[in-house]
Amino acid sequence: MSKRDYYEILGLSKGASADEIKKAYRKVAMQYHPDRNEGDKAAEEKFKEAAEAYEVLSDTNKKAQYDRFGHAGMSGAAGGGGFGGGSGMRMEDIFSNFGDVFGDDMFGSFFGGGRQGGGGRSRGSRGSNLRVKLKMSYAEIANGATKKIKVKKYIHCSTCNGSGAKDASSVQTCNTCGGSGQVRRVTSTFLGQMQTVTACPTCNGEGVSITSKCTSCKGEGRVYGEETISIDVPAGVQEGMQLSMSGKGNVGERGGAPGDLLILIEEEKHPDLTRDGNDVQYILPLSFPEVVFGTQVEVPTIDGKAKIKIPAGTQSGKIFRLKGKGFPEINSYGKGDQLVQVKVWTPQHLSEEERVALEKMKVSSNFEPGEEAKKERSFFEKIKDAFS
Ligand SMILES: [Zn+2]
Ligand SMILES: [Zn+2]
Repeated sequence: MSKRDYYEILGLSKGASADEIKKAYRKVAMQYHPDRNEGDKAAEEKFKEAAEAYEVLSDTNKKAQYDRFGHAGMSGAAGGGGFGGGSGMRMEDIFSNFGDVFGDDMFGSFFGGGRQGGGGRSRGSRGSNLRVKLKMSYAEIANGATKKIKVKKYIHCSTCNGSGAKDASSVQTCNTCGGSGQVRRVTSTFLGQMQTVTACPTCNGEGVSITSKCTSCKGEGRVYGEETISIDVPAGVQEGMQLSMSGKGNVGERGGAPGDLLILIEEEKHPDLTRDGNDVQYILPLSFPEVVFGTQVEVPTIDGKAKIKIPAGTQSGKIFRLKGKGFPEINSYGKGDQLVQVKVWTPQHLSEEERVALEKMKVSSNFEPGEEAKKERSFFEKIKDAFS
């Protein structure tokens, strides 16, 4: 399932102002608010989706990252990864942000409930997010890769199927809340009396009490175990980039929603190549005769080898550009280049024969760096040249 574009979710086009984003979110959030769409799962998804879109687009840094990388560039905090689909935002988080968007008084009058309202009966507590590091070779980054990793984490208890109870008869409706998981409270505020709904303190909002616990998980509904997770990493990721897979973190207690899996990308060092953004740099050592006479060489690239022709009379420091041999731009069609810089290798030890031959050349004016050598362009100009 692919994620929808954040702007599209809020009915906006790219380049919308902060004020327009806020207004659009208010509209969509009111339309799909759970209090107005009780039991409507599709509305709830839309509500969460809008909250996630707003979370990103209302934050200057996240918005910039999203505008550049799309969903794949989003960190786990925004709940969205480049894959997995579904909204990772929790209802509690959405409601706790509402005050900023609507203002506290508006919130009260629109939705007639406290901040804890709206979510309905919550089950056991949500599982925590899980962070893993994922090493990627240059070749894997160039092509994208499906990586299978073993993760130690909380998984469902199969004995009780996550309920935490020994058997069906040991699950009983909570006496305090009558099974709703919520209790109503009347509080006085400067606006008058307000009714708020909070999670039942006896059952922690679960609506049930367990008289006899499952022995495998001691009533938690989850056990510590291991899961093999398959991660689809898009081509073009970079060191330090974080991807998230919603629902692949620790399983919650007694059927509570699972946390997310946050994946931190680490690049494996390459023995010959160095990454610079989407470009790749390579130093090509050549002998003096090779640059004098010209030659044909094979150079390593992130994806196999490439042949380059070195013309006769090539100067040390010259940069050759292999177009499109760099890394792909994430979520896009663009590609970087490979820059190959020639470095003439000076021998450290000479045989007598070689010494004599070189002594002869030394006196030839042809070997002296003349006016042309002084006009040699700087390193940075050479890089510019390689791009022109
Ligand atoms: Zn169990
Ligand atoms: Zn209760």
